[in-house]
Amino acid sequence: MENTDLIRLSFFLIALILCAIWEWLAPRKKLTQNKFNRWLNNLGLVGLNSLCLMIFMPVLAFESAQFAAQNQLGLFHLIAMPSSFNILVSVLLLDAAIYFQHVLFHRSRWLWRLHRMHHADQDIDVTTGSRFHPIEIILSMWIKIALVIILGVSPIAVVIFEIILNVSAMFNHSNARLPISVDKWLRKIIVTPDMHRVHHSIIVKETHSNFGFFLSIWDRWFRTYQAQPKEGHDGVKIGIPLFQKPREQWIDKMLTQPFR
Ligand SMILES: [Zn+2]
Ligand SMILES: [Zn+2]
Repeated sequence: MENTDLIRLSFFLIALILCAIWEWLAPRKKLTQNKFNRWLNNLGLVGLNSLCLMIFMPVLAFESAQFAAQNQLGLFHLIAMPSSFNILVSVLLLDAAIYFQHVLFHRSRWLWRLHRMHHADQDIDVTTGSRFHPIEIILSMWIKIALVIILGVSPIAVVIFEIILNVSAMFNHSNARLPISVDKWLRKIIVTPDMHRVHHSIIVKETHSNFGFFLSIWDRWFRTYQAQPKEGHDGVKIGIPLFQKPREQWIDKMLTQPFR
């Protein structure tokens, strides 16, 4: 295991434990499913996805950034800028790319078939943040590698971005309560749990809103922002939106609960 993998794994575990404690101390919504089975499914997927990346991806975003740096590839190598500025711009652009990628996974019928695994969780908590179809994980990695090489993102910026994205995904999927005033202030900049919960509603209009994973600005700028669920946070039903046909719902059950 490389050093950067160890750093990433440590951040993942610390964020998981802290968010789980926060959920336990200040739960936001009553969960409806068996928690043990859900955690087994969702965390099992984390293991499966890491294995798939190891087997099917010859290089990852970090190695691609090292390659771009050694060969002076990408736009950032044409402009002289301090490394802190490079990191800031890289994180902003990669986060915007993740936003557009998420919109695309909702708009395309084929990509939605993969992404709906994320939405098939009928409760939402910290582990939902890691629940993605292995093929979505691999496609996302290819998109990230392409961007890293085109832009010339530095290796350190890649690691920082991946940690930010991972930690913020766990934070904003947490079934935990933030004081309303803190949420109101925080969601001006980043995606809060109350903001992302709207995205997991079974109401179609709400599913197709709040696509951001880290910064909330993209949803505001591109008019996909929905402040609160229509039914309120206690009433909002979590899961696959209602536009799914019965046959597809059955396939979903097969595809999205691999460990049951
Ligand atoms: Zn989504
Ligand atoms: Zn989500």
